[in-house]
Amino acid sequence: MQKRQPSQQTCRSCRCVDKFDFHVPDLVWKQVVPKNLQTRVVCLECFDKFAAEKQVPYTHFLHTVYFAGEKAQMELKVVDSHDP
Ligand SMILES: [Zn+2]
Repeated sequence: MQKRQPSQQTCRSCRCVDKFDFHVPDLVWKQVVPKNLQTRVVCLECFDKFAAEKQVPYTHFLHTVYFAGEKAQMELKVVDSHDP
């Protein structure tokens, strides 16, 4: 039996399989993600990279991150580490 995770999509920025499902408000998304990628799938790693480049703090807007692996799914907690 094969289970497919509907949330597993390919990141349009780095082309990896996006295994982390996360949600941020539209306003934050538009602030962080480059225009040509805003309607595409962007993985958490790339999102974080863009946020760092643009110096947009987003941990407050991120509540839970879901990891959808091949063997397990889990809910991850966001730890608010204040920017140095
Ligand atoms: Zn990516």
